[in-house]
Amino acid sequence: MVKTKTGPIAEAKRLIVKIGSSLLVDEASGLVRRTWLDSVCTDIAACRKRGQEVIVVSSGAVAVGRRRLGLTPPLKLEEKQAAAATGQIRLAHDYQEALAHHGLSVAQVLLTLDDSDNRRRYLNARATLETLLRLGAVPVINENDTVATAEIRFGDNDRLAARVAQMVSADALVLFSDIDGLYTADPRKDKDAAFIPEVRELTPEIEAMAGDPGSAYGSGGMVTKLVAAKICLSAGCKMAIARGQAMNPLAAIEAGGRCTWFLPSAEPRTARKQWIYGAMSPTGAVILDDGAVRALRHGRSLLPAGVVAVEGSFERGDCVLVQGKDGQILGRGLSAYSAEDARRIAGRQSAEIEQILGFHGRDELIHRDDLVVEG
Ligand code: GLU
Repeated sequence: MVKTKTGPIAEAKRLIVKIGSSLLVDEASGLVRRTWLDSVCTDIAACRKRGQEVIVVSSGAVAVGRRRLGLTPPLKLEEKQAAAATGQIRLAHDYQEALAHHGLSVAQVLLTLDDSDNRRRYLNARATLETLLRLGAVPVINENDTVATAEIRFGDNDRLAARVAQMVSADALVLFSDIDGLYTADPRKDKDAAFIPEVRELTPEIEAMAGDPGSAYGSGGMVTKLVAAKICLSAGCKMAIARGQAMNPLAAIEAGGRCTWFLPSAEPRTARKQWIYGAMSPTGAVILDDGAVRALRHGRSLLPAGVVAVEGSFERGDCVLVQGKDGQILGRGLSAYSAEDARRIAGRQSAEIEQILGFHGRDELIHRDDLVVEG
């Protein structure tokens, strides 16, 4: 009998793997460690074969590009940006080759951190990632370093990976770096540092274990990893800090290799809805006909056809109230259209949207993943 694997990685429908520069790029030569990357891609292919969706968040652009341009540290911001622009092509090329070996298509996605703060770009980035996953591609994400206005810091991709996990409601994120997990103190300095296998809540005691932000406890630092953990816990996404140096590192932690798991209490979808509820105040309302009210109660998305009126003023991605004709509040959600466009397509079939607005927008006015229906 085939033994079904269990554990957060095997059970994840949507898995994110974050790879740090120190693993991917050979320090001495500045070249991508291809044999190692091939082994990671073999693990990814095994997940895809089991029907899991996988997103990679990869650093390494600056480390690779710096050598190619003959730059020596310390680099100014614009030199780092130039290095990233050169290195990113190399990275994408290596991922493409390594994944093609398994018949997998790769898609490069460059994001800036505030993509997830700006609702409109957030919805676009999410829809692109969803589409890529549906089409079976493996998105490989990095920060869009060319347009980054703040200093490019190692460790920023920990946070980026967590934001991506939140954005796509991922079930698990693995942060691969050069440390196998969280310790009560920096294990390189303190021989009494004890390993913590599991964290369910980020208490002040746990946060204090990361030490000061400047310390290099885990490349990129433990502080950024705990920031990532905080985002993941609130997004209902399980997160692991794991050592990645050995070949097939994903298979290794699945087989019980040492790592620290951060385990949230809620599921990603529930957490997402709590976030929609908690973080945003509605700036308008859509009023529905009775058919749409019934459809919503059955967990469907809201289509323009079911809307009888649109109130207030809001932009695409803003939070709106969803009401019945009698004024009863059914819930709230993120609108895929601005108030102005929503008024024009209200009561119309989704197939007519392009003709009315002049562009082919989303079929749904509010997608069910962006909708919270009360009681
Ligand atoms: N985006 C940077 C790079 O690709 C790295 C940021 C990080 O390591 O967190 O080089």
